[in-house]
Amino acid sequence: MCGIAGVSVLDGTAGQPAFDGLVTLQHRGHESWGVAVAGPGGVRTRRALGAASRSAGGDWPAGRLAVAHTRYSTTGATLPENSQPFVHEAHRIALAHNGDLTNAAGLRARLGRAGYGFRSTSDSEVILALLATAARPAPVGRVPAAPDPRATDGVPGPADPAGYADPAGHDAVVAAVARAAGALRGAYSVVCSIGDLLLAFRDPHGFRPLVAGFAEGRAVVASETCALDALGCSGVREVEPGELLVFRAGRLTGTHRVAAPAPRSFCVFEHLYLTRPDSRIGGVRTSATRTALGERLALESPADADLVVAVPSSGVPAARGYARAAGLPLAGALIRDEQVGRTFIEPDRRLRERKLRRKFSIGSPVDGARVVVVDDSIVRGTTMRRIVALLREAGASEVHVRIAAPPLVAPCHYGVDIVDARELVAAGRGAEDVRRIIGATSLAHLSVAGMRQGVGAASGEGLCEGCLTGEYPTRVAPARDKFKLMPAQVPRQATPPAPARPR
Ligand code: AMP
Repeated sequence: MCGIAGVSVLDGTAGQPAFDGLVTLQHRGHESWGVAVAGPGGVRTRRALGAASRSAGGDWPAGRLAVAHTRYSTTGATLPENSQPFVHEAHRIALAHNGDLTNAAGLRARLGRAGYGFRSTSDSEVILALLATAARPAPVGRVPAAPDPRATDGVPGPADPAGYADPAGHDAVVAAVARAAGALRGAYSVVCSIGDLLLAFRDPHGFRPLVAGFAEGRAVVASETCALDALGCSGVREVEPGELLVFRAGRLTGTHRVAAPAPRSFCVFEHLYLTRPDSRIGGVRTSATRTALGERLALESPADADLVVAVPSSGVPAARGYARAAGLPLAGALIRDEQVGRTFIEPDRRLRERKLRRKFSIGSPVDGARVVVVDDSIVRGTTMRRIVALLREAGASEVHVRIAAPPLVAPCHYGVDIVDARELVAAGRGAEDVRRIIGATSLAHLSVAGMRQGVGAASGEGLCEGCLTGEYPTRVAPARDKFKLMPAQVPRQATPPAPARPR
């Protein structure tokens, strides 16, 4: 999924708030993080593998612009060169992308033939390449930086042949983004600095979130409102699908439509799970949405039970709703080791399973009780199988599993690392088979209709439900290949997904 943030300020202190915003987006990925600060000395970048929240961040170079990224890979392995933001020094571009492009391979081949030297195997670098090559007609990347003819003090400034850094470069930037948007397919929410401008733009379907807000002397763009709240922003608004916002020196200086309108297809999984519970989507806190989903689930699929147990932490709001609607007590029977983080987003299967064993333990016994356990989703089934076993060990006489989402049956092509349908326990299996695999007394999922009602889109309009239905709002390749941009001979640090084993 990835978290992205960008800050434009008046006074040269953009680095720290960009890092602070990034830390609030840590739940969107912890494979790597990076912050690029654009200032008088050019673009200076700090990047590392792992979680930003584990790092002090440190002193930041002076700069009016900063772009930040925390990574959860959907294309390309967990390698330092795939860490973002990506930077094009000659054009003073720093770019962070969330989403997955569906035509990255074709674009990359075309740009490569035209002479662009790619440094990574991430689809996001294609967007950087499109912006950089739009800056001047000749191929870039292999051309030596030219001195800036406008430098008057005898010291060559940063190369900027297209005049991006010039105040009049605003129009050139808008044209370059529009041209890029015309070429790109799939999901992209992008935050990017070019010259002295901060840009935020989003694909015309609006697959992934992107919001903007303002604090004194500061404009902030981020994946989620929780980052804007942490930075004290007000005037919060969505970057509309197909829209480009341009900021300079802490102020919004332009809004432009850069892509032809398309039906909105916002990822339903952002509502169900991905977004932090205090973030708002369309003004509604996702914890409230998830509580409503839990209430609906209780009405659709009641269970003859004594108490409700939440799977911490993302299942808690739905469990609260379930307990309330069912009139059952909510017990804190499960404890989660917060140090372990989101196990699902570990790209390596063995690491995922090892961490999962440490992740949950029993906080209070449930001797003889008939338990309903509520979670927001089942993906591979590993988590729920472990939890059902734990609850039985803790004395539960029955374990009824209730999931506040419909079954996931198909890969995501737009930025969630669900690559192979064979990994999904519900793909090609009925509920009874899945129940047996996870060892539950009973199993029920929320219906698609119930989910749509709960997220406030009763007709399903405006949502991407590809992972629930296998029907996608754009043309996609028949199979997803996470390593599609990687030459075959390069070792892949992340383990490719293993086919689901019969359990
Ligand atoms: P699994 O063990 O593969 O069935 O994963 C299910 C667990 O992972 C649930 O507890 C979810 O809260 C969480 N989860 C579901 N989808 C995702 C995702 N895309 N990224 C990270 N975690 C997820």
